[in-house]
Amino acid sequence: MTNGDDQFPDSPPSQGGTGREGFPGEPVITADSARPVVLEKPDHPISRRDVDPDALGIIRRLHRFGFLAYLTGGAVRDLMLGRVPKDFDIVTDARPGQIRKRFANCFIIGRRFRLAHVRFPEGKLIEVATFRRVPDRGEELAPDAPVDPKLLYGTSREDAFRRDITINALFYDPDDDVVIDFVGGVQDLTGRVVRVIGDPAVRFAEDPVRVWRVLRHAARLGFNVDAATEREIPAQRDLLAASSGARLYEELNKDLAYETRPVFDALRSRGLLRIILGRAGETYESDSALYARLERLLEVEDRSRRAGLKLAAEEMYALIFWPWVEPLFGAEPEDIHNALHEAFDRAGMKATLPRKLKADFIQILTILGAMGRALRTGRMRWSLAKRSHFGQAGRLCFLIQKGRPPGPGESFETLLRESQPSGAASEPGKRRRRRRRPRGGRNRPPGGEPGRE
Ligand code: ATP
Ligand code: MG
Repeated sequence: MTNGDDQFPDSPPSQGGTGREGFPGEPVITADSARPVVLEKPDHPISRRDVDPDALGIIRRLHRFGFLAYLTGGAVRDLMLGRVPKDFDIVTDARPGQIRKRFANCFIIGRRFRLAHVRFPEGKLIEVATFRRVPDRGEELAPDAPVDPKLLYGTSREDAFRRDITINALFYDPDDDVVIDFVGGVQDLTGRVVRVIGDPAVRFAEDPVRVWRVLRHAARLGFNVDAATEREIPAQRDLLAASSGARLYEELNKDLAYETRPVFDALRSRGLLRIILGRAGETYESDSALYARLERLLEVEDRSRRAGLKLAAEEMYALIFWPWVEPLFGAEPEDIHNALHEAFDRAGMKATLPRKLKADFIQILTILGAMGRALRTGRMRWSLAKRSHFGQAGRLCFLIQKGRPPGPGESFETLLRESQPSGAASEPGKRRRRRRRPRGGRNRPPGGEPGRE
């Protein structure tokens, strides 16, 4: 381990004063530390073999053109922990225009903070960002506001300090095979602590969504939240509620993509589920038995996903709302479809869910309710089988009933046969004669707008 003085001429002089104990032999790093800790092999566990070859290629090409370029964010954190990173983000001192010139497959996105996306076959995408000077304050600043690039872009040190938590602000240079730490992230990885970089009150006020990010990373990794960070969380609830709905939706999707249960537990224990999910979250917070049902479903889901199951977004949303809406089916309202729409319209969720997504998961929930009834009565409304969401609802029904996804040859019909061993269950081909309805959407084409049942 060395202090990377020569490599980081941009580092300002140390202002000293730490207040935090380092591990024996480790320099103490704080927001005021001028020099990064540089971990050389074998002091860090990262192997180049575990880095995506396309990400390595981008970094090496930038180096060849004389730029600094590192792997950063979640990728370095996960590699340090021996976990498989989800994606490989790169930072560099090359400006977006300079990056674009060096890569044929590169597109620039964003207006205020312009980022380069380098694209590879099969939709693979690697983000290359220029070192930033100032934190991204979320929606607070107008995205189109003209900003002097000199104010926007900065040094590697500044880029580390504008990040959210220490363990997310490490850099890895695959050419020199070194990990560079300006913020004490290595120490926090060792101590299994999630700590906001800088003063938590200031950093949360800049962007309240960071509260959620702190809880997410602590929950997923099984780390503790640092005490000063935790103390600030209650004061941020209202600010989080005032964040843009689109931003909250974006963050919610990250939690629904993997390891959902531990993050939901952490959000619930801090009273944040009710902000994000409105009445549904409020019910999950106040009704422990109902939440226990959701927890069970999320556990099954997380486990199945680790085994390779991929649920579409609308299936995940149907799953998280199922325990909350299920009682509606008990009362068998005339028009369950409208009842569901009304329940969601009145829920007061702060996360803004797109209309199409909402229509899709409400369709799935409607069919799921009919399937539940069929498992109790033996009678299924097979007209629902024409709906494009029937297969998805069947898969969820299986997951809910059996605690695992359906295997080859298994489906909702398997469940129905098992629920009525005497063979009393209705079958797809043998529909009961039904009275014709005066109006309705029974003959709607699959995938059409949901209508009345
Ligand atoms: P995951 O493994 O879930 O993708 P991640 O740490 O990569 O985790 P991202 O949401 O992909 O998280 O963000 C990438 C990086 O950008 C983070 O590691 C962090 O350094 C920085 N970052 C993201 N959101 C913020 C924020 N609101 N404030 C400051 N830094 C942020
Ligand atoms: Mg990431």
